[in-house]
Amino acid sequence: MSQLGELTKLISAHLARSQALNASHRGILSIPEYDPLTGLLSFCLFKDEVERIIVGNENNTYVMVYTDVEDFKYLNQKYGYSLGDQFLKEFSSFIIKSIKSETSVYFTRIISDQFALFMPYTDNGQAVKQVWKINHEFITTQQILKNAHLRIRTGIYLVKPGCPSASAALDCANYARQQIKPNDVCTVRLYDDEMQQKRNLENQIKNDMSEAMHHEQFKVYLQPKFSLEDYSIVGAEALVRWHRPDGTVLSPDSFVPMFEQNGRITELDFYVFEKVAEFLAKNNTLGRKQVPISINASILHAPDQTTVQRYLDILNKYSVDPSLTEIELTETATVSDYDNVRTLFQNLQSVHILTSMDDFGAGYSVLNTVIDIPVNTVKIDRYFIVKCTSTERGLYFLKQLVTMVKGLGYHVLCEGIETEEQLQILKNIGCETGQGFWFSRPLPIDQYEELLYGKAEPSD
Ligand code: C2E
Ligand code: MG
Ligand code: MG
Repeated sequence: MSQLGELTKLISAHLARSQALNASHRGILSIPEYDPLTGLLSFCLFKDEVERIIVGNENNTYVMVYTDVEDFKYLNQKYGYSLGDQFLKEFSSFIIKSIKSETSVYFTRIISDQFALFMPYTDNGQAVKQVWKINHEFITTQQILKNAHLRIRTGIYLVKPGCPSASAALDCANYARQQIKPNDVCTVRLYDDEMQQKRNLENQIKNDMSEAMHHEQFKVYLQPKFSLEDYSIVGAEALVRWHRPDGTVLSPDSFVPMFEQNGRITELDFYVFEKVAEFLAKNNTLGRKQVPISINASILHAPDQTTVQRYLDILNKYSVDPSLTEIELTETATVSDYDNVRTLFQNLQSVHILTSMDDFGAGYSVLNTVIDIPVNTVKIDRYFIVKCTSTERGLYFLKQLVTMVKGLGYHVLCEGIETEEQLQILKNIGCETGQGFWFSRPLPIDQYEELLYGKAEPSD
């Protein structure tokens, strides 16, 4: 097998060499010419060659194809790195064999399992179909891929005259690839006008963040949490909204993932935390009875050693009791960075900030994450509740889950209660607290204040 692997590598290198034109004047010796694993043209040279064509292009259309394997990490972990390497070599050879065109074809491995192919565009309107067919044919030759249910994802960008650079074309094809989500049936996407508009909006959102923060366009809403026993308010969750100058209000799902991508979500999280601290401090001064408020935290806080101190600095600035605040991190975040999340939760608890695991049961739940994670509360996800309350078996499962979580010593809160029926079911199975539209939607701070303390007396 290993000799066969080496042979494949040699043949791939030879084919890549003959297909990549202009191999002779590649110049600078310090740049590696070929990828040592697959024998393909190195990414540096690929970019150089493609750049030359794109910049000088006045009449032609080319295609930039960006491909990777979904969850390639999993393949390496499950079957070992040498099998992963073998897979990458076979993929390279297969693509080379599938390419009909001889001239101006460049194929490279960018990094890890990510490949880029640049070639003249010849198949009018058939690019997605063609690529899908090739990917599919390859998958059928790979038993491992089929066993592991892995998918090949490809983004395609049509490079027309006027495209500024190879990087721009790669970015667009990569963006199209990233739009393919785990549940999408089609795993090949063409970068089209709609995608361009979405990307423009995303860039605008990213660029506008500092100004929005400066002009206080991010508003903190508070959604009350209720006792399922006596329906009293036992806490609230801070949820951010972006009030844009054009009058639109953006929900967190449309900007939080982008700020997570560029790392600026932590700034926003501290901003929300500070607004909550300000509110708690005001009510403290007014001598009002307080209930804790939870704030969502991105996973990006977990590895940062300064996180807890920054929360404490804010609490000290407003002289707020730490136990009136709670930090929520999702179960998915906990699974993805278990050790850091555990340490963060531990450190938060040691300074008396409450902790909770959010969205428990959403996505791929890993039950053992709750065994000894230092959290005060486990928040059971809305979708879990919707799914489980519709069948007897689901109900049985939910009841056992709630009992188990309580048995481990945590408080249980059920999220997203929308109907009286759900409420009664959850009460019956022993859930203590709840949150959801049936009780109240997330409210602007002044409305929450009114709900909790009643209407303020008009001052004279
Ligand atoms: P989450 O922390 O799980 O918050 C609960 C979400 O469910 C909120 O959506 C809330 O409005 C919604 N919700 C509450 N009750 C119901 C209900 O009965 N039915 C339905 N259908 N939905 C309900 P929202 O405000 O759009 O927030 C979405 C997510 O964005 C949050 O999920 C949280 O993960 C994230 N997020 C919100 N604010 C922040 C923030 O300041 N920082 C960070 N990092 N993430 C935030
Ligand atoms: Mg939350
Ligand atoms: Mg949640």
